[in-house]
Amino acid sequence: MDLIDVKTKELVKKYNFRFSKSLGQNFLLDDSVLEDIVNGADVNEEDFIIEIGPGVGTLTVQLMKRAKKVTCIELDNDLIPILEQELGEYQKFQLIHNDALKVDFNEIIGEEQSVKLVANLPYYVTTPIIIKLLKQGYKFKSLTIMIQKEVAERIDAEPNCKAYGALSVLVQYYCNTKIIRKVSPESFMPRPKVDSIVIRLDRLEEPRIKVKDEKLLFDIVRAGFNMRRKTLWNSTKVIGLSKENLQKAFDKSGIDPKRRAETLTLEEFAILTDSIYECK
Ligand code: SAM
Repeated sequence: MDLIDVKTKELVKKYNFRFSKSLGQNFLLDDSVLEDIVNGADVNEEDFIIEIGPGVGTLTVQLMKRAKKVTCIELDNDLIPILEQELGEYQKFQLIHNDALKVDFNEIIGEEQSVKLVANLPYYVTTPIIIKLLKQGYKFKSLTIMIQKEVAERIDAEPNCKAYGALSVLVQYYCNTKIIRKVSPESFMPRPKVDSIVIRLDRLEEPRIKVKDEKLLFDIVRAGFNMRRKTLWNSTKVIGLSKENLQKAFDKSGIDPKRRAETLTLEEFAILTDSIYECK
């Protein structure tokens, strides 16, 4: 069966669909953005695509034109019959009615090899979704996601920038990041109040840095950025080492305890983590 483009405005009208602000519903209207997302994700016929939040299926159809299969996860009860009616007959299409924060992606992925996630994410859950997708070790090759501009800038930030924080370290620990394009509010219906960015996260085979204790790394990172203005000496106190041992750890690491977390590269976080681990 040939794929027919979904026209967002026409479907919204046809089904008298009411947008839900609380579900972060801003549907895409702009063909050039759809094309840039599909190209940016480098979708090809071997790919099994998972899309979070298909809306009325506008991006879904473009993905189906290039991919082997597209499985969508949608939470909104009102969108399920629309998607079933409009896309249900396509073999490549599968719909899961659930909350993306609750699904076990391993069950969806199964034995699939070339798995890519593509989504215009609902902005209210962007960060928890990204954290879930990365930390749970699912075998995604890449995540190509449209997110709020400021969040994309935080993900892509380098040390010594205002935007550099715990999210930058977390994402860069697992992925290479690449900004695909900026998208302005006019490209959506209804228009969001913020600018958006399409960003691609390519999962690394191994995390970028090796540490003896991953949980300790993220505890140090979180403590450091929760207390951004504090020195590393003060923020790492929460880890629970005696003063003497903490001093030993900093001496061992060669990192000045008067520095702040926002100045540390990922490699330096790894050195500090292992030094603290060894002096515990
Ligand atoms: N993909 C469509 C597009 O680009 O036009 C819609 C994108 S809209 C920004 C976000 C979509 O995510 C909506 O369809 C919304 O109902 C859905 N959604 C919101 N929260 C969700 C959740 N926790 N799990 C799955 N889908 C969710």
